[in-house]
Amino acid sequence: RRLFYAGELAEEIEITGGDAHHLARVMRAQVGDAVVVADSDGRIARMVICSIVHDSVHLRRMEYLPQTETERTEVILVQALLKGEKMDFVVQKAVELGAAAFCPITTDHVVVRYDAKKAAAKTARWQKIADEAAKQCGRSALMRVAQPASLSALLQDAALLHAPDTAIIFCYEEERTQSIRTVLRSVDARRIVLIVGTEGGFSPTEAAAIRAAGAQSVSLGRLILRAETAALAALAVTQYELFD
Ligand code: SAM
Repeated sequence: RRLFYAGELAEEIEITGGDAHHLARVMRAQVGDAVVVADSDGRIARMVICSIVHDSVHLRRMEYLPQTETERTEVILVQALLKGEKMDFVVQKAVELGAAAFCPITTDHVVVRYDAKKAAAKTARWQKIADEAAKQCGRSALMRVAQPASLSALLQDAALLHAPDTAIIFCYEEERTQSIRTVLRSVDARRIVLIVGTEGGFSPTEAAAIRAAGAQSVSLGRLILRAETAALAALAVTQYELFD
């Protein structure tokens, strides 16, 4: 049995709500059973169930387990530039939601004026925000912030998109596509690249180019989310699905 725990893997932890229900009811775990628990930074521990009371399960840590290479799937967020503070917000939340790297891109509908001369300063600013967020949320690995690139340049980045066992997931609200959970459950990847558009979305040409690069388009539900909401939703579902 294995589950994801959003908190710190302390000596004793309590699992509540849906996770506890899943453990006790769905996985029929009993007192005395061992459970492998992973946190959002890839720390993994074997823990023993001390008590199960309704939807609350207490576990005691027996030992930390070595993080094997395959244990940790890397999640990378590719985010089209957003206006004002929204990019700062998405950078900060991407850290909290376990993204390993953040790749800002320019696309046809980006409204913010992108000045290549200021790119280095922007990237430094976002990296500072990311490092502060990493300290606040207790990450052991910092999130790497890349220099902004054009969508076409990103799609040619073979090292990013075409490393072995990479799944490219493209959040696209323009047509009925599979839910992100369905797609995540169908991929067996060690790297997941999430692509989210700008306020005005992707142009049809861009959508075709992203698909041609091997991306699967996914729906985040019936509603049109703000880009910053979509980034968080995609990261959160991906993070929790990885440890399902
Ligand atoms: N076409 C949108 C509209 O008509 O308002 C504009 C794009 S939406 C505000 C910003 C980005 O969030 C999109 O490019 C997409 O990546 C993502 N997004 C928003 N809602 C989504 C959904 N329901 N499913 C998948 N992606 C979504």
